[in-house]
Amino acid sequence: MKLKLDGWQLGITFSACHFLPGHSKCNRLHGHNYAVHLHITGEPLDGGMVHDFVALKKAMKSVADQMDHCVLMPGKSKVMKLEHVGTQINVSFENKSYSFPKDDVKILDLDLVSAEMMAIYALDSIVAQLDLGGNITKIKVGIDEGIGQGAWASREL
Ligand SMILES: [Zn+2]
Repeated sequence: MKLKLDGWQLGITFSACHFLPGHSKCNRLHGHNYAVHLHITGEPLDGGMVHDFVALKKAMKSVADQMDHCVLMPGKSKVMKLEHVGTQINVSFENKSYSFPKDDVKILDLDLVSAEMMAIYALDSIVAQLDLGGNITKIKVGIDEGIGQGAWASREL
């Protein structure tokens, strides 16, 4: 049996900006409206439920909230340099540089802030927050970068 939670329909969305060094167009700072989705595969327990929807939505929302209205930066980038200077974070790569207030930036433990890497980050974060019983065999988390395109990460349990 599968539980499906759609971030667009549930309002579990966020807005953020990023850029992708090395990409011909996406190497310029730009933004997206993102949605977080979740699929859980498992068997219902004696109470008739695979997992409490309330707890699932809370975990999805925490992922959205931590990135909402933020400048997303990859903390493990091999090509970008991130420097903390006072209240600012200075970012440089190739011949470009930016300076952002620290409060506006969310540094993710990733080498690139793509929908694919964000899906892996969101999967890890959601798994860490949930109490997944032995009845659950698979969890899949999707990050849509606008309506119609997204990336999914999954884990067998
Ligand atoms: Zn983008």
